[in-house]
Amino acid sequence: MDPAKLLALDARHVWHPYAPMPGRVEPLLVTDASGVRLRLADGRELVDGMSSWWAAIHGYRHPVLDAALAEQAGRMSHVMFGGLTHEPAIRLATKLVELTPPGLEHVFLCDSGSVSVEVAVKMCLQYWQSLGRKGKRRLLTWRGGYHGDTFHPMSVCDPDDGMHSLWRGVLPEQVFVPEPPGGFGAPVDGSYVDMLAREIEEHADELAAVIVEPVVQGAGGMRFHNPGYLRALRELTRAHDVLLIFDEIATGFGRTGALFAAGHAGVTPDVLCLGKALTGGYLTMAAALCTPEVAGGISRGELPVLAHGPTFMGNPLASAVANASIDLLLDHDWQGAVRRIETGLREGLSGAVDLPGVADVRVLGAIGVVQLDHDVDMAAATKVATERGVWLRPFRDLIYAMPPYVCTDAEVRTIAAAMTAAAAGA
Ligand code: PMP
Repeated sequence: MDPAKLLALDARHVWHPYAPMPGRVEPLLVTDASGVRLRLADGRELVDGMSSWWAAIHGYRHPVLDAALAEQAGRMSHVMFGGLTHEPAIRLATKLVELTPPGLEHVFLCDSGSVSVEVAVKMCLQYWQSLGRKGKRRLLTWRGGYHGDTFHPMSVCDPDDGMHSLWRGVLPEQVFVPEPPGGFGAPVDGSYVDMLAREIEEHADELAAVIVEPVVQGAGGMRFHNPGYLRALRELTRAHDVLLIFDEIATGFGRTGALFAAGHAGVTPDVLCLGKALTGGYLTMAAALCTPEVAGGISRGELPVLAHGPTFMGNPLASAVANASIDLLLDHDWQGAVRRIETGLREGLSGAVDLPGVADVRVLGAIGVVQLDHDVDMAAATKVATERGVWLRPFRDLIYAMPPYVCTDAEVRTIAAAMTAAAAGA
């Protein structure tokens, strides 16, 4: 169909994320993608600095992932998971247990990151319910977080986010504490840990769990923190009978330089959420992993099952691609690739620090962030970046990138140059 006609139909009928309906901002029409490049209907090519929202770590149309998908499609594209099981899901669960921090033994496969957070919360609430501690139903989290757009995840997103005020009275009321101070390399602030201790102790009788994004708070503000705070949380939650959920939907599979961000701290949470890069960005799939203690507690309750069963749970296509994506990651020097991107972003963004209006530049693993002292003009910044051949999606005061791990050094330089230019013009 003619691109102009497609875009007209898009504006009339297709409701895009965080967008009004009918559409006001015309999206770019992508016709295909391969490697790290998106091809647009008007013939332009853009390097994807966003990895399709942290997901496409191997880039697009990777032959190994394409083959895994085709092979599985030739056998079985979907089958209900209730009462039936299959090898791709069994292999995937086993692999995830082997790779994630020790102690996580059970895997609940979900269809999106937000759903895996819902499942993680359900696990924790049900655990305490089963143990007869029915008052433990709230969550504690730090401000500046993001855990997804369905209701329980929204209730632990940053409370200053507009969605929160919109849904006041509908969202469960959670306990918020300030986000950890400093950056990844900043020393642990003892007074902050004391505050965490006071809050967890004060609310212990009503807290089912603490939920945080370890090391990198993503869509809530792209902040980094010292992994020492995760160790403190682990000790405090244990001491006060509170479970600990790590949301590694964005950070999982190498993004921060460790396979899982919890690895920076050497900490095992009670429940771990994964998603996004799980299938290399090919298909929607997420997972909530938990310890035998959590699963065992639920099994001893008056309802001894986890009452959750999405239609597309354990989808064989997604499971097969996830297996191939994880093998592909581990078969390559992914640490070297992430380090190379980290160095490239650091060097490429060094000039941005001195630009007027730039408040901070920070890089960790394959994540680069330029923070302004004002809100970005999103349309202007996107235009500058696309003119330089790069796809970015700035938000609030942030221009950021998390490139696919297969980006060449030159492509990383192009991304950093586009971020700098966007910061200069925004
Ligand atoms: N948690 C985190 C940390 C995320 O970054 C996201 C997605 N940006 C989610 C949860 C929600 O995942 P999904 O969009 O797949 O529902």
